[in-house]
Amino acid sequence: MTEQDLNQIMDEVLICKKCGLYKERHRVVFGSGNPQAPIFIVGEAPGFEEDKTGVAFVGKSGQLLEKILLACNFSREKEVYMGNIVKCRPPQNRNPVIQEQAACLPYLERQIEIIQPKIIILLGSTALKAFFGPSSRITKERGTWRSWFRYPVMPTYHPSALLRNPHLKRDAWEDFKKVILKYRELVDKQHYCKYI
Ligand code: SF4
Repeated sequence: MTEQDLNQIMDEVLICKKCGLYKERHRVVFGSGNPQAPIFIVGEAPGFEEDKTGVAFVGKSGQLLEKILLACNFSREKEVYMGNIVKCRPPQNRNPVIQEQAACLPYLERQIEIIQPKIIILLGSTALKAFFGPSSRITKERGTWRSWFRYPVMPTYHPSALLRNPHLKRDAWEDFKKVILKYRELVDKQHYCKYI
């Protein structure tokens, strides 16, 4: 049933023209991972590789995210589903503007409602602001659990920020360690991670 519901949204998204980002997209990036995943990761927008392949988080940022998830002993086949605030690539990888976010966010909200994750991870400033408002600051609010409706939410840095500023990796890892502990609390007490 979950997959059927997601497919229904995908059918809408594939032909969506609700904002101007449809004009330059090659592929819509709907989201990927286990449709029954306990962890939903939200990024900002597709980049070059994602636009080319239609798959979320496959560029350099995605590869770094995969490494982090591997260190947590999480995978997109099992524990994780990934999507973005907007599903079409903004030209030159600019940040999606408020109107584009507002047009696209309802799709993501419906995906979250169908998947019903136990934990949501927000990657970066755009995702944080889309969920909690424009005054939110990723540098201040990362690493602290928030609530979005009934979902526990962990904001942390976007992997692209970690690539630009490797000194942020330590903080990001601390945030993901909190996610592992929350996962043990809410999903699987026995979840193994060799680092904590
Ligand atoms: S970004 Fe979202 S709202 Fe805009 S055209 Fe693409 S799917 Fe539609």
